[in-house]
This record gives sequence, structure tokens and C-alpha cells, in this order.
Amino acid sequence: MTRVLFAVLLVAAFGMFAWTVWRFARQLFSARPQDRTDNVGARIDSVIRFFFGQKKVIEKTTLPAKRASRFVSALGSKYHFFIFWGFLVITIGSVETLIQGLFPGFSLQLVLGATLASALYTCIDVFCGLVLAIIAFAFFRRIVLQPRLIPMTRDAAAILGAIAMLMISYFGMRFGGAAVVGVSWWVHVIILLVFLNYLLYSKHSHIIAALPNIYFRNLGQRGVLPKLNMEADDMAATGVVQGWQDFTWKSLLDGFACTECARCTNFCPAYNTGKPLSPMQVVHDLRDDLRFRMPDRGPLDVLLERFQHGESAADQAAEKDKPLIGGRTTEEVLWACTTCGACQEVCPVFIDQPEKILQMRQNLVLVQEKVPSDLARTFTNLERNGNPWGIGADKRMDWAEGLGVPTLDDKPDAEYLLWVGCAGAFDDRIKKQTRALVDVMREGGVDFAVLGLEEGCSGDPARRSGNEMLYQMQAQQNVETMNTKKVKKVVTACPHCLHTIKNEYPQLGGNFEVRHHTQLIRELVAQGKITIDGDKLAPAGNGSGRPAVTFHDPCYLGRWNGEYDAPRAVLDALPSGPEGRVELPRNREQGFCCGAGGGRMWMEEKIGTRVNHNRTDEILASGAETVATACPFCTIMLRDGVQDRNAGDRVQVLNVSELVAKSMKRKREIDAAAPREA
Ligand code: SF4
Ligand code: SF4
Repeated sequence: MTRVLFAVLLVAAFGMFAWTVWRFARQLFSARPQDRTDNVGARIDSVIRFFFGQKKVIEKTTLPAKRASRFVSALGSKYHFFIFWGFLVITIGSVETLIQGLFPGFSLQLVLGATLASALYTCIDVFCGLVLAIIAFAFFRRIVLQPRLIPMTRDAAAILGAIAMLMISYFGMRFGGAAVVGVSWWVHVIILLVFLNYLLYSKHSHIIAALPNIYFRNLGQRGVLPKLNMEADDMAATGVVQGWQDFTWKSLLDGFACTECARCTNFCPAYNTGKPLSPMQVVHDLRDDLRFRMPDRGPLDVLLERFQHGESAADQAAEKDKPLIGGRTTEEVLWACTTCGACQEVCPVFIDQPEKILQMRQNLVLVQEKVPSDLARTFTNLERNGNPWGIGADKRMDWAEGLGVPTLDDKPDAEYLLWVGCAGAFDDRIKKQTRALVDVMREGGVDFAVLGLEEGCSGDPARRSGNEMLYQMQAQQNVETMNTKKVKKVVTACPHCLHTIKNEYPQLGGNFEVRHHTQLIRELVAQGKITIDGDKLAPAGNGSGRPAVTFHDPCYLGRWNGEYDAPRAVLDALPSGPEGRVELPRNREQGFCCGAGGGRMWMEEKIGTRVNHNRTDEILASGAETVATACPFCTIMLRDGVQDRNAGDRVQVLNVSELVAKSMKRKREIDAAAPREA
């Protein structure tokens, strides 16, 4: 009788679970298609390293937080590794328990033999004990420490309580007397089956969705926005997102794969400076939009949501009716993002938060026509003058006055097109960097020319601000000009131009070999085409005991394009050498944004503190005499930060190219020093 009752329970529970999986999968695949079936080997490799190996969870990170909370956060993220493996091992014991319900004589000993089974039981005992301790810590953390991003919700309490009961009942089965064993067995089995069915409705949906999310992750170039069809007759046909059904199935799967670890938010520069943006919440908003608008939504959904959120029916109705873009995810949230990619970088399950934010921005700009006034001015500048500064397009070559820089019309066979960029052409401070770069390239014997007045804005500010229409107009014009002039190789002064021209112009028929100027300079130094003069810059710290230089990683060079080494190699070739360079605490993959990306350069920072001040304080604390940059926007933001902190006498902000230009030995000096041949 007991076996029959159990069999009915088992079939009902697994049947309902299968129905829930089918139900969510059906919604996901009713959204936009996306092909992620390529490269099976690399995908399996990802699953092994990042799902089973939990690589992202255990790798070293530098949280932008105070020391004490950094420790608790680090512990909080690392314990997931043990929970994960504990869960896998304990699952073996759970499977045995379920099989015993149908076949009471079954035991792991029959399959594995006495010795191996005994070792496995001991292993399960240890993991169960560990998981119980971790659950106790999780309760302590949420109730006593109360981290802002990981609250004690009803959902969390139910999940943590259920796991604790599973462990306690397991120990009851293992070590209890006859009566305890029977009760523990039923408690264990019922919690297990209820837990299974609750999973997809809870934060623990990642137990099911994390593996496929890692398998189907983007293996291609990061940070490339899907192209909208701006020639479509109506806005809906352009591909601009309006609600959950306009995202791809993979974007929706992201929401179910989220582990709610809050790493993305902890690393977000906007969040860390008091803005309302939490990338984790953006992902959840999209998932909730799906859940609130599922066509087959029924009383079970309402009941579960009411349990999880404790809201009245009226509140729930209001919540359900909120539009996703500008409602559930507010405009302030969407405009706060600097598109730095820090969130995506640290996400253990490869969720793409910036793409979702930018797609929603496109809706604000193109559909709702809601653009912050300062950004609207920038759009006008771009439309009228082809640059965000709004300076006349006819002044684009003023930076080169007296240098005799050739255009491609003067020198059609030049090996490289030097892409100057708007900052390099119009901002007085950055013009000096462009002149320094020209100086270095000439000394290195590089055969190059510029587009001159035919260069237009690359389109990065428009695209990252959601104005896809304007972006495509600008980019298309540039692509046509470059194709007409048969451009093959491009070297850019700016990492934003690098990213757009290299990775996004191919969507418009522009296929060029594009390099950042620090990559080219590294090559020139390595090949001996540029000689650094040891006398021009004194060794480390100029005798002051301070490090000579530190490097601020530009997000669009590092995180989006994977280049961290080239600028460092160039800096290490300077007279101060590697020992004269100090790393900032947040560097390379975990570098902290300057605050200018994603169109934020042209928006007032009205909420919270300033991102550039946060970074400047870190630079000042490093003690370095110079902070080297490789991006004009970073230079502007950090110089402003240094000025605001009245620290101009303590640190100078210079581009890598300026440092090289200052310390390289000119050919005429080398020639003059060479002994004359008899
Ligand atoms: S891209 Fe940067 S600013 Fe935007 S949400 Fe992610 S971490 Fe925050
Ligand atoms: S989006 Fe990724 S990093 Fe952010 S909370 Fe979810 S799993 Fe963690």
C-alpha cells in the first residue's frame, strides 16, 4: 500500500515537473530565435570549466567594497562552490532514497559494492554536514548582516528551510532509530518532490537553467549589439524590443539561470556610486515580465507570487500591468549604465546584462522618444556636425595644423588609415594626444594617412545611447567612404572607435583589420623601430619613492576587446621599467570604469557620487606620479576627477602615446650620436 501511494506521488510530482519545464520552454521558444548550435566542442568545454569547475565562482576578484564586507561577500560567493558540489553528491543519496520507495531492498551497496558505497555514504554525510553549516551561515548573513542585495525574502527562507530539512531528514534516515527513520524518509521524500516542482518558480531555477545557459553562451565577440532593420516600414518590424517576447530565447533563459549572487551589481560602477541601477534586478525584471504575462498564467502562478512577495491582489495586479521598459525597469536605471561590461565579466553563468539595457534604451529613444535633454543636444550635434562636441565639421583637421599629415587622397596606398576619432580631433586636451601619436608613428616609420574631413563620428555614442537610426546613418557613411578608398588596415586612437569599426561595421559591410594604437606601438617598440631614451625620464619615481606610473584599463579596450597587455608592455619599456609601474587594486578584467561609456560622457551625473571621483581616489591612493590612459574619454574623465580633487600637483593624466613621445630617442639624435664613417 505504501509503495503504491509512493508510486502515485512520484508519477504526479515528476509529471507536474515535466509540465512546468514544457510550459516555460514553450514561452522561451515563442520569443525571438537565436542560433547557438555551433562549436559543440567549445560549448562542452565551457560546461566543464564553468558549470562543473565553477571557474568564475572561485576565481579571485577585487570587490569595490570595504574590507569587512568584501570578506563576507567573498565568502558568500565561494561557498556556492561547496553547495554546488555538495548538491551533486547529495543527489546520489536522494536518487537512492526515491528508488528505495519503489524497491525497498535497493541500496547503493548492490551497485557499487560495500566498500565503495560505504565511502560514498561517508562523503554524503560530510557534504550534508557542510551544507547544513552553510545554510546556517546563509540565514545569519541574511538576517543579521543584511546585505542590501541579498535580502531575507520568503522565497529565500522557503528554499533555505527546505534544504536544511532535507539534510536533517537525511541524518534522521542514516542515524535515527526505527521510528525516526520512517518519519525522516517521508519528510525527505515529500520535501524533495515539492522542492523539485517549486524550483522553476523560485530563485533556484538556476539549478535547472544554469547548465544550458552556460552551454549556449555567446562564444563570439562580446558587446556587439544585434542590428536593427531601420529600413522596415513600421517600428515593430525593426526588431526593437517592446516586451519580453521581443528578446531572444537565450536572453529570457538568462533570467532563469541567474543565481542571484549579486556579483554583477557589486561590481557595477553605477551601483557603487549610488545610482538606482542593479544589473541583477534588470535581469529579474525581464524574467518577471515574462512570468507576469505568460499567456497560460493561472491561479497557481498568482498563489506562488503572493506567497513569495506577500503582496495583496491589488498590488499584484498593478505590478503585472507595469510595462517592462520605463516601468518595471525605470528610465533612471536604463540611463545609468556606462556599458562598462563589469557585470557580464563576473557573472558565473554568462548572463549578458549590458545588451538587455541597451536594447531597452533603444526602445526609450526610438519608440517612446524619451531622451534626457543633455543627450538630445548631443544627438543634434551629431546630426548637424558629425561629432558630439557640436564643433563645425570643417574644423576636423585643425588638430593636425603644421604637421603635414597626409589624407588618403594624398596617399591612397598608405598601409594604415589612422582613425583619429571625434575626441582626438575636437577636444583641445585630446588633440595633443593625437599629435603625440602621429609623432610616435612617424618615428616608428609607419606608413599612414587619415580620412581628414571625410571622417565622421564612428557612431559609438549614438549606438550606446540607443539611437540606432543615427548610428546606422553615421556608420554606413563611414563604411562607404572607407570601402571607396579601399581601406584595409585601421589603427584607432580610441577604444570605442576600435570596438565599433572592428566588431560592428561588419554588420554594415565594413570589414577591416583594426588595431588599437597601443598594439601598434608595442610592436614598434618590440621591433626596435622606436628606441626609448633612458635619460629622458628618470627611473622609478624620479627618486621620490613613489611609483612612476599606473595604468587605468579602458573598458572598451580591456573587457570588450580583451587587450590588457599591450599598453602595459609599452609602459614597461619606458625608462621607469616594470618596477616603476604599480597596478591599481581594480585592474584588468576587474578594472573600474571612468564613467564616460554608454553615452554617459554627455549626460549630467545627477544621482549619487561621480564615477570618475571614485576611480580618481583609487589612483591617488596608489601614489603613482602618472596615470597612463589609452582612451580619450578616460583621459577627460580622470583629468576632471584629478582637478575636482585639487590633485593636479600630485598626479598627471597622460596617454600611453604621450609618454612614449616624451621618452623616445629621435632618429636625428640617434644619427647625430652615431660615429661618422671615415
Ligand atoms: S555595463 Fe557596467 S554600468 Fe552597465 S550595468 Fe553592467 S556593470 Fe553596471
Ligand atoms: S546576473 Fe549573473 S552575476 Fe548577476 S546576480 Fe545573476 S548570476 Fe549573479
